[in-house]
Amino acid sequence: MAGDAGRRSGVTLTTRFAPSPTGPLHLGHAYSALLAHDMARAEDGRFLLRIEDIDPARCRPEWEARIIDDLTWLGIRWDAEPMRQSERHAAYGSALDDLWCRHLLFGCSCTRRDIADALSAPQEDGAPIIGPDGPVYPGTCAPDDPAAPRPSVRPTHCHLRLDMTAALIACQEQIATPSADDPGLAFTETGPHHHGRVVTPPTFYRDHIGDIVLARKDFGTSYHLSVVLDDAAQGITHVVRGEDLFEATRIHVLLQHLLGLATPVYYHHGLIRDDSGRRLAKRDDARALAKYRSEGATPDDIRRMVGLRPSS
Ligand code: GLU
Repeated sequence: MAGDAGRRSGVTLTTRFAPSPTGPLHLGHAYSALLAHDMARAEDGRFLLRIEDIDPARCRPEWEARIIDDLTWLGIRWDAEPMRQSERHAAYGSALDDLWCRHLLFGCSCTRRDIADALSAPQEDGAPIIGPDGPVYPGTCAPDDPAAPRPSVRPTHCHLRLDMTAALIACQEQIATPSADDPGLAFTETGPHHHGRVVTPPTFYRDHIGDIVLARKDFGTSYHLSVVLDDAAQGITHVVRGEDLFEATRIHVLLQHLLGLATPVYYHHGLIRDDSGRRLAKRDDARALAKYRSEGATPDDIRRMVGLRPSS
């Protein structure tokens, strides 16, 4: 499944499953975890588990325990102790310090409301753009002169946003040199829907992504920053995850370049949907693995339900 593009000689193929312990695992999670696990086992590689528990308001240890129980029941085994994002704040902090010192971040105290208000004001150039990270930030708190002197210690009482213009300048070399027909930052996609090299031009970063939040003031990091640092720290060579995160990968590739990290190969799989075609969400208890388990389903029944071959 990893494909030739995915193989790197001398490097052990390493995949991961990275659930957030905010609710029960459902069939969609089982599919994602089994795909990543099967890929690692088929290639004699490694499979790792990461608990994405950066948001203390939503994550619960009880959910983590149930997730681990469901994964074990499915026959999934991980090859190292699980990584927990709640134990990784030092790594997130030092990456933020680095970006702050390089003038790639600015403090922002805008609320969602402030941003919505700024964006709903009549626009000179049309309707606000909604990118992979939501509405593109209108620049309210962006510094007029990014090179102006600023405190040497990054602020923690506000959000920290990536200064996209400065970030693109910092990546200029990578953007200009990969090859004549790759004028942007690129990653290799091996999933069923977008197979090949995915290139994101600087204009897309500027106009459709913008100054994204890299550290939220309530928990000091963000999904994008943490996932990139953690994939690198776990030595992930192949990221297997749902296609709902395909667009976010453009952000991850930029952060990898800024932080000097390797870009893994990506495999974005289709989403498991309910009977009315909606993707499953954590609140869909009706599709929770626990429900199928209580009704006597076996792990192979679950594999069949999500379209995978039975393990035996
Ligand atoms: N924690 C994310 C989720 O549960 C997955 C993130 C990822 O795979 O990059 O949806």
